[in-house]
Amino acid sequence: MSSRKNAAADIESLATELRAGRRAALARAITLIESRRSDHQAAARELVQALLPETGKAIRVGITGSPGVGKSTTIDALGMFLIERGHKVAVLAVDPSSARTGGSILADKTRMARLSASEHAYIRPSPASGTLGGVAAKTREAMLLCEAARFDVILVETVGIGQSETAVSDMTDFFLALMLPGAGDELQGIKKGIVELADMIAINKADGDNIKRANLAAGEYQSALHILKPRSQHWQPPVVTYSALTGKGIDTLWQEILDHRKAMNASGEFAARRKDQQVKWMWSMLEHRMMARLRADSAIRAKVRKIESEVADSRITPALAAEQIADMLK
Ligand code: GDP
Repeated sequence: MSSRKNAAADIESLATELRAGRRAALARAITLIESRRSDHQAAARELVQALLPETGKAIRVGITGSPGVGKSTTIDALGMFLIERGHKVAVLAVDPSSARTGGSILADKTRMARLSASEHAYIRPSPASGTLGGVAAKTREAMLLCEAARFDVILVETVGIGQSETAVSDMTDFFLALMLPGAGDELQGIKKGIVELADMIAINKADGDNIKRANLAAGEYQSALHILKPRSQHWQPPVVTYSALTGKGIDTLWQEILDHRKAMNASGEFAARRKDQQVKWMWSMLEHRMMARLRADSAIRAKVRKIESEVADSRITPALAAEQIADMLK
């Protein structure tokens, strides 16, 4: 009993330190969230619930782009730009390919040199978890903790893999797609559906000899966007060019994000989108938990395997099998 009491007291003191904006406490709390131990998970749930009133106030920006497009350089430049204006910036990542190898290339401190040296920034690489759903779940909770720790801009980085982009778009207010001024890139982006998710397309490396090509690319994206139906009737995604290296155009990136927020607030879409995301989130957590229950119990696992082989051999229909498995969760 006393250990439970201690655990509750631990959670309360962790929450207090977090609310005070201590980065060490934030790091500990995120580690708790990422832990697979069931007592840690229970503690993490309590912690997030306790901090819920302090969450939701940040501007949440998703950033995607192929490796080499300049994500780290952009985050470093944008992050410093924001810190100079009094913001606190957290950088998180959803990188499904980092699972287990530990070789995450996203939200890597060594690639955001200035930002990682700032006490107003917090950078956390992608959690190493087996599935995209798992990674996204942990990242979303980490985002809530960052908000409770008074970070008011959250940048969530991801790579150009369709599903991870959808996951990040589902947890952010604004989705920024970074592109290169290169040939062929334009159509590639459109094919992958990135453009449909994007609230803005930003062409990086518009410096030196690249400026002309960047403007050409911008024109192509612009016409492509005109064919597509915009995600919101209150926002036509702009196409901008900038240079993360020189910093030229970083202010425009941020201004567009603020303009979008204003437009979404005015139309009521901001609140609607956040609500929608919360509910979607609940269902995705539930799915996760039900799957976890199916896997946790060895007797259930054995039954599921048996049913699975019966389906494979066409002895029972997938529909009946699904019903039998669902019944086991009662
Ligand atoms: P990431 O893989 O998307 O994170 O890309 P990085 O930020 O690591 O950048 C990849 C390479 O592009 C690095 O060598 C950067 O120095 C370079 N780079 C990034 N932004 C710019 C830019 O605005 N202009 C130029 N010329 N190079 C850039």
